[in-house]
Amino acid sequence: MRATVMYKAGDVRIEQRPDATIEHPDDAVIRVTRACICGSDLWPYNDLPTTPGGRTMGHEAIGLVEAVGAHVRRIKAGDLVIMPFAYSDGSCLFCEEGLPTSCVHGGFFAGAQAEALRIPYADGTLYPIQVGPDDALMPSLLTLSDVMGTGHHAALCAKVGPGKVVAVIGDGAVGLCGVIAAKRLGAEQIIILGRHADRIALARDFGATDVVSERGEDAIERVKALTKGFGAHSVLECVGAEPAMATAFGIVRPGGAIGRVGVPHYESVTGGMKSFFDNITIAGGPAPVRIYIDELLPDVMEGRIEPGRVFDRTVALDGVPEGYRAMNEREALKVLVRP
Ligand SMILES: [Zn+2]
Repeated sequence: MRATVMYKAGDVRIEQRPDATIEHPDDAVIRVTRACICGSDLWPYNDLPTTPGGRTMGHEAIGLVEAVGAHVRRIKAGDLVIMPFAYSDGSCLFCEEGLPTSCVHGGFFAGAQAEALRIPYADGTLYPIQVGPDDALMPSLLTLSDVMGTGHHAALCAKVGPGKVVAVIGDGAVGLCGVIAAKRLGAEQIIILGRHADRIALARDFGATDVVSERGEDAIERVKALTKGFGAHSVLECVGAEPAMATAFGIVRPGGAIGRVGVPHYESVTGGMKSFFDNITIAGGPAPVRIYIDELLPDVMEGRIEPGRVFDRTVALDGVPEGYRAMNEREALKVLVRP
């Protein structure tokens, strides 16, 4: 089968790899019908050292189940399924508590930008959907694999609710989904911090009420000016870089909360004094998107939210290396892959 392999920063290739097969009785194998490139894939695209053998890429997918292992009960061959970016057994303490990303048997996928993929713990991991494989909703359904669930997680961690003033840092796909989530949860004011005109326009369509295109101290001043000098109740940090966290601390109001979902590119969270004296909640991490599908799927199916609009380019597997380049150069917002 063909798969996407990254050998070092900037070096993405499509190669023949051994076919995905059932290796354990709890496994399934899916034929990938939709995948995509994630903003977090751009971190290794910029800094992966030379990696002998390469690293298979991709952690978001919708696929058709081709085969299941002997212990798989719920998932069947022929099912169309959403593949959350983390696999989980669905039965351990943390799965029961709603945190499948910390499943004791779990882990994070790689290799979804490919023709097929092995799915550990298929019953716990995969989410069957009742639509045709070419349904018009497919892009939005694909976002439930990661970015829409991650934006929702940022909003929940930042305690978004009716009447709240929300600031979203980052105008990538997760930030834009964060805007959708904030609007959906009843936020009164949604300030997007971003600089790309087309993404800002989409953010406004999704419900952003204000735009801040400045950076650093200027951005903090602008948010303060938009919030009667107080700052935001809820800050969604959807970047993962240290300056973004510094901005988050600068714009969160006393008693407020920061939901961080950008994969951190820093070792430690600063702001210890401010977070203490202002009673700031700092929460977040990899989103348990598997459990959010129950809640978000009806809104997607009935057209109340359209997170699939974050995709602005579609490629076949051969086009994936160019897709990485385009996303890295900010020519594309998010690239959908049809293997
Ligand atoms: Zn588990």
